[in-house]
Amino acid sequence: MMDDQAYEQWLWEMTAQRCVQNLVKHGFDAHFLPDVASAAAAILKMVQSFDSFGFGGSSTTRRLGVLEALRAQGKTIHDHWQADLSKAADLDIRLAQGRCDCFFCSANAIAATGEIVNVDGIGNRTNAMTFGVGKVVIVAGMNKVTPDLDSALQRVRLVAAPMRAKSLNAKTPCAETGVCTDCNAPQRICRITTILHRKPLMTDISVFLIGQSLGF
Ligand code: SF4
Repeated sequence: MMDDQAYEQWLWEMTAQRCVQNLVKHGFDAHFLPDVASAAAAILKMVQSFDSFGFGGSSTTRRLGVLEALRAQGKTIHDHWQADLSKAADLDIRLAQGRCDCFFCSANAIAATGEIVNVDGIGNRTNAMTFGVGKVVIVAGMNKVTPDLDSALQRVRLVAAPMRAKSLNAKTPCAETGVCTDCNAPQRICRITTILHRKPLMTDISVFLIGQSLGF
């Protein structure tokens, strides 16, 4: 008999198979890997020919160790998660992310029916993942996969945004109570919602689903 975790793993694998099939139908390249280590190895192999990389504000992509591995290989990295960046330097990095060879980010939710949902406050991430970069790599734990588009949009509002706001110590209602009030707070983090219904025409996107719970 399997333990509870093994049943969860089984369900994730079944869901991931369906999600990968539907993402491929929608023009994305898509893969399921059981864990962070196997995903990192597959991704590093895939991106070895690129020279410059952008990293969106995502804890999931950092968990892979890909950023450090690429930096150790002498690649150019555009990463705005750095202490004491001036406003101008931060803006330059975000702009460069939209013109690099390969952009790494996560998703706020991925529908098993094959749509990818993201919410952004500034827009550098949602811009870079739709136009301007030749190759986009989206990495997401199976905790972010929902049954359909409606539940993906719901996940963003009920789960991803409040947790993200809390992690940023944002002065928003959700960071206080865990509940979204569709606020008008100056620090509101959800200002732009993108749904990739199909692969954007001029951007090559690979999606790596990982059989672990990762990020928000
Ligand atoms: S709209 Fe406001 S309250 Fe709702 S999740 Fe976004 S920041 Fe939080």
